Amino acid sequence: MKPRLTRRQFLIAGAGGALAISTGDKLFGKSGSPGPPNLVFVFPDQMRGQAMAFTGQDPVITPNLDSFAAESLVLTEAVSNYPVCSPYRAMLMTGKYPHANKVLNNCNSGSAPYGCELQRSDRCWSDVLKKRGYSLGYIGKWHLDSPHKPYVKCENNSEKFAWNEWCPPNRRHGFDFWYSYGTYDYHFTPMYWATDSTRDKPIRPRQWGPEHEADLAIEYIRNTGGRYRSPDKPFALVVSMNPPHTPYRLVPKKYLDMYAEKTYEDLVNRPNVNLRGNSRGAKIARQHIKNYFAMVTGVDEQFGRILKAIEDQGLKENTIVVFTSDHGNCIGSHDHDTKNVHYEESMRVPFLIRWPGRIRPRCDDLLISTPDIYPTLLALMGFGGDIPPDVQGENHASVFLSGRGARPDSQLYMWVPVGRPAWGRRGVRTHRYTLMISSMPDKPVQYLLHDNVRDPYQLKNIADEEPQVVRELARKLERWLSKNKDPWLAQNARVLRR
Ligand code: CA
Repeated sequence: MKPRLTRRQFLIAGAGGALAISTGDKLFGKSGSPGPPNLVFVFPDQMRGQAMAFTGQDPVITPNLDSFAAESLVLTEAVSNYPVCSPYRAMLMTGKYPHANKVLNNCNSGSAPYGCELQRSDRCWSDVLKKRGYSLGYIGKWHLDSPHKPYVKCENNSEKFAWNEWCPPNRRHGFDFWYSYGTYDYHFTPMYWATDSTRDKPIRPRQWGPEHEADLAIEYIRNTGGRYRSPDKPFALVVSMNPPHTPYRLVPKKYLDMYAEKTYEDLVNRPNVNLRGNSRGAKIARQHIKNYFAMVTGVDEQFGRILKAIEDQGLKENTIVVFTSDHGNCIGSHDHDTKNVHYEESMRVPFLIRWPGRIRPRCDDLLISTPDIYPTLLALMGFGGDIPPDVQGENHASVFLSGRGARPDSQLYMWVPVGRPAWGRRGVRTHRYTLMISSMPDKPVQYLLHDNVRDPYQLKNIADEEPQVVRELARKLERWLSKNKDPWLAQNARVLRR
């Protein structure tokens, strides 16, 4: 009898020699008609929408994404409405905006007293698929649990402040295969809790996170040894990679070497970075741009390996594959270091979706918002009738499938200070403009308006020159805030009617 390895032993030993079982034929009925589609949803952290070579923007090396894009619907104006980790992730999982799903900030010990974590009572898209008989796997960063004392002992947590937390099985919203963590940024020595791991016994492999996660995703797709999922059920797999998140230095040399000949001037082509100055942005760009692009190239390579596994298993035709990110990265643009601002580098994310024979490859400028992903995916998969009535996102399946259907005329932007849900920044983005209004205690209200067509790098604030545009966009913003029952609206009604 062949000895069975524990998951830990298996991971240490590597995947070599394991028996690969193709399940592609199991997903098709005897008539040959495909059953419900599989879903593979890959989203690295902090990968901006400009960081794919085929977009013609960042001079980055992404051959796998470039060829995947040619087979996909590419949404050229996808955004993260609240461009930071946990709020995006909660919008993705619940289909609701932050005031409705309670994740108004990043989950950490600072926001924990305000109940800032994914609610058990929310019915996530994964809960719906579970009920529909899917096998569900989650690999990588989760970041939707409040840390509680005694904090998990790890480098991202101190005695006084904690980020990382184990997600207990009753908070996993249907995912039956689990290999995840809350927040942990040491990309060469990542940590994970597997399906049956206890809180005090995380797994600590020594391998670059995205490569390790792609290895495991490939095993899941192959269903090696039948250990990962039911061979008779369709599956949904999420792969949530941490790079190209900070620290940028934690990237394999082989990817960095691909940029060895490049100068900063070659790599930083955005006029909103003052590369030569001594500003904060200039220093960040010079210090990190090469490593950031190297990380993107590493993510691209690992994504390519996952795509190959899908194809090798004969699953390409009946598997919906999505590639996106939780937010972008300024990396020096507008003197900002990373995310959580309204600028394009922070808000715009990749959004590529492939479903051969069903979704025609093309580009589309649909103004999709993060909560729309949930109802759209469920409807594409044939479960539109299962979308809970409290989901706030819009179902764009018709636009995805045919190019026709109702289209939003704007996207909401928001940032909320911890414990102050009626304060902070709100805004809207349209095809042409971005309006951002900042309302903070004891500070003057600030208006920023950018014409993204005439001024694609958002170098000029034209709010004072274009009061009529500000008024029109403020009306759109008011509709968003009213729909979302955002208390900012009542507090700032006067601000919106400037
Ligand atoms: Ca993030």
